[in-house]
Amino acid sequence: MNELELTGKVRTHIEQLEEPRVALHREAVKPFRALRTAAAKQGLDVMPFSAFRDFQQQVEIWNRKFRGERPLYDRDGNVRDHAALNEEQMVEAILVWSAVPGASRHHWGSEIDVYDRAALPEGYRVRLLPEEYAPGGVFERLADWLSDNLERFDFFRPYDQDRGGVYPEPWHISYAPVAARAQRALTADVIAGALQDADVLGKHIVLERLPEIFRQYVANVGTPAATGTRLA
Ligand SMILES: [Zn+2]
Repeated sequence: MNELELTGKVRTHIEQLEEPRVALHREAVKPFRALRTAAAKQGLDVMPFSAFRDFQQQVEIWNRKFRGERPLYDRDGNVRDHAALNEEQMVEAILVWSAVPGASRHHWGSEIDVYDRAALPEGYRVRLLPEEYAPGGVFERLADWLSDNLERFDFFRPYDQDRGGVYPEPWHISYAPVAARAQRALTADVIAGALQDADVLGKHIVLERLPEIFRQYVANVGTPAATGTRLA
């Protein structure tokens, strides 16, 4: 992946599928289909909620959260009071759930946020909140199945536990062979380059703190247990 692909500025590494409708790195297509097929045998309909996102989409997410047009959640999924946060605190509050544009793993096409369509109650709106994937939650069975089977398909969870960076995201799965390469290639300088001409709210704070943000939120993730040695 080149720097434009790594930061979601282009989609030359991406393939658009129709069923299910999803945009993925071309190397992740077959493994994701294989995972879906295996899960289907257990009655799970693993659906992508979000996969590839380009740079501009990440800017929209970031800016809407910064303006308070989208809720900011704390670690337990409770909504934060936007008005009580200054700009530095806002950046902090966004980073625990959303990446700086250019630094999102979703730019790589190797990352998929998944839910189980077969488990959806009538009229249910998927929110991607921890409680949905926790014991008693609507996607508990999917979460358990993923824990037991992800590695067979070379997927893993980069946000499997709280490391003091991004909060745990049991719905976020990552295709390790592609993601490991991208992770090695992505540096704070590459991200700074992507941000240079971008209209990102709070950009001066982000750029000032970029080395620290990179350490805490970008590099500070889980590694694939089964494939770690091979890909290291
Ligand atoms: Zn995700």
